Amino acid sequence: MPSQSVDVTVVVPCFNEETVLPSFHRRMLSVMAELPSSCEILYIDDGSTDQTFQHINGFCLGRHVRGIRFSRNFGKESAIQAGIDHAKGQAIILIDADLQDPPELIPDMIAAWKSGFDVVNMQRECRGKEGLAKRFSAKLFYRTIAKLNGRLHYPNEVSDFRLIGKEVIDSLKQTSESSRSFKSMVSWCGYKSIELQYKRDERFAGETKWNLWSLSDLAIESIMSVSRKPLRLFSFSAAFLFFVCIFLNLYSFWQGAFSASVFALLVISFLGLGLAMIGEYLGAAYQEIKGRPGYLIADTVDSESMEAENAGPASYGVFNVVSTEAIQQCS
Ligand code: UDP
Ligand code: MG
Repeated sequence: MPSQSVDVTVVVPCFNEETVLPSFHRRMLSVMAELPSSCEILYIDDGSTDQTFQHINGFCLGRHVRGIRFSRNFGKESAIQAGIDHAKGQAIILIDADLQDPPELIPDMIAAWKSGFDVVNMQRECRGKEGLAKRFSAKLFYRTIAKLNGRLHYPNEVSDFRLIGKEVIDSLKQTSESSRSFKSMVSWCGYKSIELQYKRDERFAGETKWNLWSLSDLAIESIMSVSRKPLRLFSFSAAFLFFVCIFLNLYSFWQGAFSASVFALLVISFLGLGLAMIGEYLGAAYQEIKGRPGYLIADTVDSESMEAENAGPASYGVFNVVSTEAIQQCS
């Protein structure tokens, strides 16, 4: 059966989301039923160890659903990459599975895209009940990245909930970096963008997969992918310290009494920081040289092949959750 042309692919990265996925899919189907554009949902199961992929299998009994399962957990950025690689739509909407990003806003995003914007960024109005530390670190991150690369449009409070159009998708496909930050890469692409305000809901069920460590990891990755300024800053500071050292040595020589040990400690710790920074960039370069794929696919499933297997019309808009055993019995 020839595959139908698709206007929009909704990409949903999922990692152990069995508790929320049925509700998410139900809400997505109601939104899709009202859309004037043709739309598909592409679930990327990022190596879940719960029933997430079994749910996705069940969703494929309805129309316009596809699922990809990774061989293990590769991380959300890899799941997004797989979504971009495999989407059939002219535009991609990225949305979390935990219903923090309301699917009901999708029609507004599509309308903004159809009115001529290549990137539609969903911008949170407030951070709700998030702790002070998370709010502060988020602010610091957005400020830092804006300062580090002033040429990029890096909107505040925009997470991965966005629509990207054909030009951006094609541009992202042209880049060959294996270590990626979706946020940074979309900003790097440029094109005409708009921010739509929305209120981010609480997670519907399950738990966040991020901790302080993984968030810092992502922040460093995002900064490194758009800017070499931290290295440049270090070079300038090192040069400055070098001249200060020369001056202090001359001064101590002239006075005959200056102890430079405390100052030496400062210089050594500063050099340590610089070495760590160089190490980070070298590590990133090493990863690129290895050239490994960002993810490995263990399994795929889609409505079309399931429809063919079941040899009966799939019912659009009908919500089903079935186990893999049930699916095998059907075929
Ligand atoms: N996610 C993923 N792989 C991971 C971690 C998270 O695909 O390794 C997915 C997760 O299932 C969810 C989305 O990324 O759909 C956002 O994750 P989460 O809600 O934990 O992040 P938060 O909203 O707390 O930033
Ligand atoms: Mg979340």
